[in-house]
Amino acid sequence: LAHTLWFNENFETDKGRMLSIAIKEQLYSGRSKYQQVDVYDTVSLGRMLVLDGVIMVTEFDNFAYHEMMAHVPMQSHPNPKKVLVIGGGDGGALKELLKYKSVEEAWICEIDEDVIEVSKQFFPSLAEAFDDSRVKINVGDGAVFMKENQKQFDVICVDSSDPIGPAEVLFPKDFYQDIQKALTEDGIATTQSESMYYHKEFINKLYLQNKDIFAYVDYYYTLIPTYPSGTIGYSFCSNKYGPMENLNKSRTFEIKELSYYNDEVHKASFVLPGFARKAIKGK
Ligand code: SAM
Repeated sequence: LAHTLWFNENFETDKGRMLSIAIKEQLYSGRSKYQQVDVYDTVSLGRMLVLDGVIMVTEFDNFAYHEMMAHVPMQSHPNPKKVLVIGGGDGGALKELLKYKSVEEAWICEIDEDVIEVSKQFFPSLAEAFDDSRVKINVGDGAVFMKENQKQFDVICVDSSDPIGPAEVLFPKDFYQDIQKALTEDGIATTQSESMYYHKEFINKLYLQNKDIFAYVDYYYTLIPTYPSGTIGYSFCSNKYGPMENLNKSRTFEIKELSYYNDEVHKASFVLPGFARKAIKGK
């Protein structure tokens, strides 16, 4: 092997698959109240944030995840003023939401303040979002925060880690019921909902449970090499609008500098391959 130092991700190893990334050096290692927090400098993907051995962010491809998490709901809502990120302690999703002049308040509820501090130190281009005067940081459990805030948010992004560890509470039906109540009448939520290749039964369960809660539910995806199977998706959960109704061109001027999202990708990301459409939506 050309390189000697390798990071082996400890996610999906029980299923007999593992992603390895060649690294130059480890920049940070610490145990927070909730999880192991590590930062590496990699050979070809820039810096990498890892929580409990699972890849969260790389400089190389986080744009694909953060842009699709934020701009799909924001371009689907007519006038998003008050927005929320659950999780997302690296700041990447928050940064994308703040690109809209319509946003007056941007809340973030991240359980682990070490993630915020580590992101400020090692991922300043993402963490710069925390300095925006519209941002309000709540360090705490998103499941609790949702219960304390009703009819507040036009857009909610649940940028959670996987349903093992502290993020386990961000997937059950009662949490989605609390999301629905925390949204305004025409609010839209999008939630990290795993890979159509590796987790289709899990996604189908989310899809069916959410069909009982929201007026409109769909699943869309992005392409991201450093997440398991190279793709990850999102549950689009809306109290009123589908993803195409407000997709008007006049608003795309705010996003022309993006690297992944555009209005064609917006539409295409909801079109699933046959196996996934059948497994997730049963059709
Ligand atoms: N994009 C990544 C992914 O798809 O796995 C997620 C990135 S972000 C770093 C995930 C964040 O969720 C972590 O900072 C973690 O601390 C936070 N988190 C986990 N459980 C949480 C909870 N119950 N409430 C709020 N934040 C939580």
